[in-house]
Amino acid sequence: MPTLPAKLPHTGTTIFTVMSALAAEHGAVNLGQGFPDFSPDPALLQAVTDAMAFGYNQYAPMTGLPVLRQAVAARLNGLYGSAYDADRDITITAGGTQGLLTALHACVGAGDEVVIIEPAYDSYDPAIRLAGAVPVGVPMTVDYRIDWAAVRAAITPRTRALVLNTPHNPSGRVATGDDLRELERLAEQHDLFVISDEVYEHMVYDGQLHESVARHAGLRERSFLVGSFGKTFHVTGWKVGFVAAPSALSAAFRRLHQYTVFSVHTPTQQALATYLADPAPWQGLSGFYQARRDAFRAALAQTPLTLLPCEGTYFQTVDYSAVSDLPELDFARWLTTEAGVAAIPLSVFYQRPQERRHVRFCFAKREDTLAEAARRLASAWRG
Ligand code: PMP
Ligand code: GLN
Repeated sequence: MPTLPAKLPHTGTTIFTVMSALAAEHGAVNLGQGFPDFSPDPALLQAVTDAMAFGYNQYAPMTGLPVLRQAVAARLNGLYGSAYDADRDITITAGGTQGLLTALHACVGAGDEVVIIEPAYDSYDPAIRLAGAVPVGVPMTVDYRIDWAAVRAAITPRTRALVLNTPHNPSGRVATGDDLRELERLAEQHDLFVISDEVYEHMVYDGQLHESVARHAGLRERSFLVGSFGKTFHVTGWKVGFVAAPSALSAAFRRLHQYTVFSVHTPTQQALATYLADPAPWQGLSGFYQARRDAFRAALAQTPLTLLPCEGTYFQTVDYSAVSDLPELDFARWLTTEAGVAAIPLSVFYQRPQERRHVRFCFAKREDTLAEAARRLASAWRG
């Protein structure tokens, strides 16, 4: 047996797989991995069936179906005042994860450093390492704001890019206009690329604005904006997303995309293009999830868990220090196996161990699922 090439030799199994397996094994309510447990709009499902019946079954163009690229560009430009060109600047991807990986590979290489803000979504670190670059984790402040002084201090002559994520998974925080202006100054000063993970762009609450890099001219010109239809339309299993970037960046992106993915599932693209013609579904998403957030928070208020702010995403982070001294991973396992509710420990999203007694719940669930989870959590520490 030849020795396997040692790519990511120290990387274990992603926490989402680990916790979903544990939840299934123990019959726990799975509020760990982030995905809805309700059905998407039947009209969207019908549109895929129709697309297949109408013959959309062969390879799509490498960059994505023109109608879908046009729909994506129109939505971004209408919302954020950008001027993305559907042909040159938009590429349809196999989900956000592939968009992130390919964008990173398009702009960083051996020896480059890439700043990631921690807690950081777990695909960033391995994606950067696979590109031969070095991920440099910069922890957020105690209340999960971006610590710009720390970001500044982490920048070296080798820093080539920064990964931004807003709305932020797992904290549920959203970046402010000041955050984006600070990033714009930094990126211009140090000539950085920005990979902007905006997969939760339509889940922002309490009237706050989603601060896309596309709103800021100085950022837009150096950014890969990554989006995902999985989040917006309750179809995480479809794995279709997009990357918007100025033409020079998109050209670099497509050079890699053409030989790693080539093109994405055609009938799904056709269906999404049709569905995007009506803005109501994505315009209503923040209201839809805000109601769920409020109901879930009200239910959790009946437990000894302390709620942290949730400004966006479909994640609610809680502090459990009132009930347990266990490290986060142990607590998440205990919660799954003993209390019957799966959660995600935040400690896994850091390079250096951080133990804050924080776990994340996903509230993209049916009302009865959330009620059952809350009932189990309330009884876990009773008597
Ligand atoms: N970025 C973040 C912050 C996410 O939470 C996720 C998935 N939940 C992704 C990227 C990946 O999106 P996709 O499922 O479309 O690959
Ligand atoms: N992004 C989802 C989450 O944060 C999970 C995606 C995955 O399972 N890879 O829960």
